[in-house]
Amino acid sequence: MRRKSGGTAMRTQALVKLLWLGALAAAGLEPLSSVAWTDGPARPRAVVSVGPAAPEPLGLYPAHENHPTKKWTATLACQPCSYSLQHWACYHESHAPQAIALEGQIGMTSPCGANWYHNGFFNFSLDGEAGANYAVKAVRALDQGERGSCEFVWELPAAWVRVRFMVVPGKEPLFCSITSHPKSEHVPVLKVSLVAYPSGYFHQGQRVAVTAAGTYRTPARVDLDPAREWWVVFYDEKYDLGVEGGSGGAAGLTDPDLVGKAALNVGSYPLLWTVEAKPGGRELRFAFWNGLNRRNADLLPYMQPRFEPALADLRALDFRPLRYREEALEPLRREFEKLLAETTGPTAAQAAETYREAMARLEALRPRLQADAVDITAEEEYLATLDRLDALLWDLRMEWVFSD
Ligand SMILES: [Zn+2]
Repeated sequence: MRRKSGGTAMRTQALVKLLWLGALAAAGLEPLSSVAWTDGPARPRAVVSVGPAAPEPLGLYPAHENHPTKKWTATLACQPCSYSLQHWACYHESHAPQAIALEGQIGMTSPCGANWYHNGFFNFSLDGEAGANYAVKAVRALDQGERGSCEFVWELPAAWVRVRFMVVPGKEPLFCSITSHPKSEHVPVLKVSLVAYPSGYFHQGQRVAVTAAGTYRTPARVDLDPAREWWVVFYDEKYDLGVEGGSGGAAGLTDPDLVGKAALNVGSYPLLWTVEAKPGGRELRFAFWNGLNRRNADLLPYMQPRFEPALADLRALDFRPLRYREEALEPLRREFEKLLAETTGPTAAQAAETYREAMARLEALRPRLQADAVDITAEEEYLATLDRLDALLWDLRMEWVFSD
C-alpha cells in the first residue's frame, strides 16, 4: 500500500468500503440472524453444511467386527425446521470396491433421533438390488440461501441414483426427491423403503399408522391404495409423548402421481413403508416431518390440514441446484468486474486472470451438468471452481478496501 498525504480521507474511504462489505456479509453470510440492518424484514435463509467423511469405530458388529467405517453428516438449517442427516457404511477391504451401509442408507439424526430411523430411514433398490450394498459416490451441499439442499449419489450397475433433500424457509417438512438415471434403455424398478420407530426404540410397542383410508395397528401388513393413501401419520399407543421417554409420532407423504405400489408393515418395533415408482418411472418424491412434539391425540388434527399444501409445494419444487444455473454467476460476475476495475495490487493482478479462467471453465462444464447422464467429475469440478471463486473474491475485497 502506498503512503500518501490525504491519510484521513483514505481511512474514511476504507471505512466506507468496510461498511459496504459488512452489509454484503449481513445479507449473504448471516442467514439465521433475525436482526434486520435495512428497513425491510430480514430475508429468511437456509444454511447447509456437509462434513467430510470421518472414520468411525464399528466395534463388535456381527460379521463386521471392528471393520473400518466412514460417516458423512449433512445439516440443513432453516426456519421453522432444521434437519440433520447421516450416511455411514462399512469400508472393510473385503467389501471393496463397494461398501455396505449396514443399518440403512440415510439416517435422520435431528430434529429427533426417534421416528425416522437415525441410522438409516431412507433406502432404495433398483430391480430389487439394494443401494445399501454400494459405496456412495458423493455426499455434498448444493444450494443455500433462498433454499437449502444437499445430495447423496450412488452408482449401481443399472443406473446412477441421486437422493436430494431440501428445506425451504417458512416450510416445515424436509422435502426429498430420488431420481434414477439409467445407463441403458432399460429403466429399473425404483423402490424406496422407509423405516421408522414411532415415538422411540421400544421393542414391545403398539405401533399405529394412519392413512386417508385406514388405521393400521401392530401387527399389520397391508398394500396401500397409492392414489388415496399417499400420506402416513404414525405413533405408538403405549408410548405416547413423554411416556418412558417417548418422542411422540411423526409423518410423511409421497407424490401419488409417481407411485405404482405402496405398502405398510406395522411391526411391534420398526414400521416399514415401501413405495415403488410406476412402471418406467424414474423419480419418487417425499416430504418428511419429525420432532413434532405432540401427543397422539393432537397429532392427526395437526397434520391433516398440512398434507395438501405440502404436496403442492413438493410438486412445484425443481430439485436441480440453483448453483448450476448460468444466472447464479451474475452477482459474482458483477462484483468481480467492479472490484477488478477499482483495485490495484498484486492480488488484483493475479485475480483477474484466475477469475477469467474460472468463468470460462464453468461455461465449458455447464452443459455436462445439464445432461441427463450423471457426470460426477464435472459436477465436482464445477462446485469446487465456484468455491475457489468465492474464496478469491474475499481476498480481492480485502485488497479493494485498502486500495486507493
Ligand atoms: Zn464390514
